[in-house]
Amino acid sequence: MPRNTGAEGVEGGVGVTALLVAAARAIETHRDDALARDVYAEHFVLAAPASAGWPVRIHQVEDGDANPLWGRFARYFGLRTRVLDDFLLRAVHTSSARQVVLFGAGLDSRAFRLAWPAGTVVFEIDRAGVLAFKHEVLDGLSAAPSAARVPIPVDLRADWVAALADAGFDPAAPSVWLAEGLMFYLPPAAETYLIDTVDRLSTGGSALAFEVKLEKDLLAYRDSPLYTSTADQIGIDLLTLFDLEPRPDSAGDLTGKGWSTAVHTPFDFTRHHGRGPLPEQNDALAGNRWVFATKPRA
Ligand code: SAM
Repeated sequence: MPRNTGAEGVEGGVGVTALLVAAARAIETHRDDALARDVYAEHFVLAAPASAGWPVRIHQVEDGDANPLWGRFARYFGLRTRVLDDFLLRAVHTSSARQVVLFGAGLDSRAFRLAWPAGTVVFEIDRAGVLAFKHEVLDGLSAAPSAARVPIPVDLRADWVAALADAGFDPAAPSVWLAEGLMFYLPPAAETYLIDTVDRLSTGGSALAFEVKLEKDLLAYRDSPLYTSTADQIGIDLLTLFDLEPRPDSAGDLTGKGWSTAVHTPFDFTRHHGRGPLPEQNDALAGNRWVFATKPRA
């Protein structure tokens, strides 16, 4: 049985991590110096029993920014949201790509809050229970998407390609792909399959961004403030949800397939934007990398 099964929706297992990111985005949204604003994020947190009592504003956190979870880790998610918003918008506005695929979309509301070019289709892949909760909340808000939005309830450990094709994805047209906060929950074979399949379904000019963790031994950081505060304060033990097997070199694999890739630390973007997390001792973010890849036009 894979490690990250657990509950099917956002009430537990890997699905609850979508609520963690939503809470972080809610906090970021209401900061004066927010790097990203997501007006939907707090509604997910307030609607789910699993996140009862979680903060959605930094002033609701007793020790504020000094709190490793709702201070530094939440700022990490705020920065990540902004950087990947910028990636997606740049990718569609500087190319003819009008298909966007979000792997492990969770409670990402980009299909609603970003300014997409006319004709854009956003495919959202996640497990059925997570997407059902998302629809329930967004329907309750009468939220209107800014692109055509196609939810695809499927488990990425299974063969998801047929579901994407059935949903109308066209491999002959350029595409933009995103796997944000996902790879480390997947078995290595599922990550390799995802990368190989993105390559196979991408025409020249397509783009992909994804997040990986490069640590050889994730458990070496088990006492880090980030992991212990997440477990102690909201009961999410990330290290039991991550797949701890050795990871593939997905950035290297893409380079080998002819893609041009750039690998960044989150801290590169903290320095660029002037806010966000910086390296610290015993840092659970030390191995995080954001990879940006483009398939050259033939
Ligand atoms: N990308 C979103 C974001 O950044 O807001 C969500 C990130 S959340 C940390 C991880 C998401 O990956 C969850 O929504 C979870 O349900 C999804 N996920 C994890 N394993 C999955 C799998 N095997 N198949 C489909 N989705 C999966």
